Amino acid sequence: MLRTIHLRSRERKHVSTRNSKIHGIGVFANQLIATGQVLAHYDGRILSAKEVKRELAAGNRYLLELPDGRVMDGSTGNDLGRFFNYSCDPSAYFEYREGAPLIISSRPIPRGEEITIDYGFEPIEVTRFPCTCGKPNCVGYIVARPYHPMVRRLWSADSADNAGMRTVRG
Ligand SMILES: [Zn+2]
Repeated sequence: MLRTIHLRSRERKHVSTRNSKIHGIGVFANQLIATGQVLAHYDGRILSAKEVKRELAAGNRYLLELPDGRVMDGSTGNDLGRFFNYSCDPSAYFEYREGAPLIISSRPIPRGEEITIDYGFEPIEVTRFPCTCGKPNCVGYIVARPYHPMVRRLWSADSADNAGMRTVRG
């Protein structure tokens, strides 16, 4: 079983959900958030191998592989984790504490800004998940940052802005 780490209420007051310009509902900073702040759990049901195959085929983009190899379906979660949108210039990242995935801020985030993460998607069927983050460095697809230069080269119309490999935080 996944161990639950209870967030202090002070930490939950830092963020809230509302409509996002990127996609559906997003998570926003209620106040200036410092680097390294725990923002939310990523929680949900642990799937069997059969269920993972079914959900992947159905295009479920909330699947998260845990360090021990189990796969969690964030779409069934109770905390705010599932509402964090992807962007090509993320402000938070996944970190595992006692095996539990948490979402942590990777830079200071001003009040009112939507907080985004890197979903870490492999570039398989990359065109299936278009990105609408609107960041200046958007590659056009939801894909892990180390693959951005390659995806930009192969799929994006704007191939001039090839900044090279970036480091993944966390
Ligand atoms: Zn983008």
